Amino acid sequence: MSIALPTKRNPIRALPISVINRIAAGEVIERPASVVKELLENSVDAGATKIEIAIENGGIDLIRICDNGCGIPRDELMLAVTSHATSKITDADELFRVGTFGFRGEALASIAEISQFTMRSRIEAADCGYELIVNGGIAEEIDVCGMPAGTIIEIRHLFYNTPVRRKFMRTAQTERGHVAEAFTRVALANPDIHWTLVHNGQIQYDLPPVDDWTQRISDFFGVEIAAGLIPIENSAEEVHLSGYVVDPAVNRANNRLQYLFLNGRYIRDRSLQHALSESYRGLLMTGRYPIVFLKMQMPPQLVDVNVHPAKLEVRFRDGGKLYSQLLGSIRNKFLSTDLTAKAGLNPPERLIQSPERRGLEDSGRPTGNDRPFQLQTPDSRSQERLAFPHLPPARDWTQAPSPHFQPGGPGTIPEFQPFPSFGNPAAPQSDSGKPISVDHVDHGQVRPPDRGARPLALQVHNTYLISETEEGMVVIDQHALHERIIYEQLREKVLGKKLESQKLLVPEPVTLPPADAGIVLEHAELLQQLGIEIEPFGGDTVLVSAYPAMLANQNPAEMLRSIVDLLMDEGRQVDQRDLVDALLHMISCKAAVKAGDRLTPEEIGELLEYRNYCQDSHHCPHGRPTALLFSREELDKRFKRI
Ligand code: ADP
Ligand code: MG
Repeated sequence: MSIALPTKRNPIRALPISVINRIAAGEVIERPASVVKELLENSVDAGATKIEIAIENGGIDLIRICDNGCGIPRDELMLAVTSHATSKITDADELFRVGTFGFRGEALASIAEISQFTMRSRIEAADCGYELIVNGGIAEEIDVCGMPAGTIIEIRHLFYNTPVRRKFMRTAQTERGHVAEAFTRVALANPDIHWTLVHNGQIQYDLPPVDDWTQRISDFFGVEIAAGLIPIENSAEEVHLSGYVVDPAVNRANNRLQYLFLNGRYIRDRSLQHALSESYRGLLMTGRYPIVFLKMQMPPQLVDVNVHPAKLEVRFRDGGKLYSQLLGSIRNKFLSTDLTAKAGLNPPERLIQSPERRGLEDSGRPTGNDRPFQLQTPDSRSQERLAFPHLPPARDWTQAPSPHFQPGGPGTIPEFQPFPSFGNPAAPQSDSGKPISVDHVDHGQVRPPDRGARPLALQVHNTYLISETEEGMVVIDQHALHERIIYEQLREKVLGKKLESQKLLVPEPVTLPPADAGIVLEHAELLQQLGIEIEPFGGDTVLVSAYPAMLANQNPAEMLRSIVDLLMDEGRQVDQRDLVDALLHMISCKAAVKAGDRLTPEEIGELLEYRNYCQDSHHCPHGRPTALLFSREELDKRFKRI
């Protein structure tokens, strides 16, 4: 079948202004957060020292920004919403040395085309302000209004006249997350400005100006990240690099916490992200990403910011040099930093509190806090690793149920022990030829076996278990096997809807990066299938109110964060079953003993025992083998016995 060609040629016409604006809007304004970004940047360009932004319903219903910047005189108000009209450049040469965020003069025109737009502005010298209303690109008469010097812009019903775009908007929660992220990027880069973000009448952030950038980082990302900041400072010719990288012990499953600012502008750059990964090479597990906050300052001629409509990507004149500078500075810094000591000696006080203490303290809304809505729960991820970055503590599988758990109803006991312990680990008996005894390796020393019991598994390098079987000898990867066992148990329970979830005695508040809270709440139902119940708690905090009994030994906050990371990466998958499966894999991987964990004889005994019950004991959920078998015959051959 061929495509019909037009029989008649249409004449070329210049497009009407409204169409031009709509096309521009299509490029620059993807969602409410894009509007927020443009408005915040305009206010910074206007020299404001106080910028307040309020949104309703994720910005879908209303975005309102108020600044104390230079304002716009009456006779320029109309120009401000006219496309390709700007006060920031005058000729093409200036394109290559722009010092402002804006210069295209398209943002306000595009936004006013696809919303109900009101702008009020007053310059210092004027007696009053002036108001301009534009509805779907159609401007009304300018009116006077009373207001202090500065600019107030209100955008209602974004995309009301572009239904296709409106359909692409996600839930208010998700849009709110994107707005918070846009806010974070601009507010982080400008700590000398007083920033406020309000959502549905609730203050999410109220951040007075600070001299110390670490304070602003802490405001957004919490104490654990702030405590791990390692300063970086380096100048090479005209390029100045400054800011912080985070101790490798604190890391993430994606690169979203890599904040790079070029001349004050947040950017994403693949090559520089690669340089970051390279600089952490050997310090992070595969699949983990460093966290960084870095400012690059260079003469504007050395970079072209006019390559991306939202200016998120830029083109460097000498990208290779910048790559080397970034990599070299961080590497050098690590060489001169004792990372182990830094992470281990002085964890901030709150991080070493016991879980129940934390739970109690964080259970109510914070008091005595001058920023009441910035709930910052310490990120308890790697609490253990912070204390002993390279030596996870031995696990006590038989420990009492976590203090997070309420005793269940009468007669119920929390079900979880990663696998039920043997009543008497020293004397399990079996006549089936299956492993009948536990090993006798303890703290690296072989204990004399109990009379009659043979050591059937030996832990080597705290990673592998070597055991005798009927056919020969098996070498087991302890993590891979444990992961498989947990995965199968969890999957069976989830599919059979038998996963026991327990209400937490003290719901655990978890503060997430700005964009994430929305994503998690959107997946609340899915998480419920996995026994994890969450509820909104205001701001970027969610409350974990119930948690699978089986995972009692796992910190709910840490688990939730890992789930978010996975949802952000895989959440777009259409097939729910795949997503559930991916979550189960991730959860089992986290809950399993790690390579390097020393196991007690009881634990080794349990692993071997449960190996027999696995449907597929030969592969971990990721498909790696859990065990290698050496047959008796093969051993005999190799040793030239036969
Ligand atoms: P650009 O920022 O690329 O110039 P915009 O459409 O975003 O284009 O803004 C158009 C013009 O309106 C700007 O050049 C600036 O002069 C003026 N303007 C916009 N927002 C503000 C503000 N908050 N305070 C003062 N002037 C503003
Ligand atoms: Mg602008």
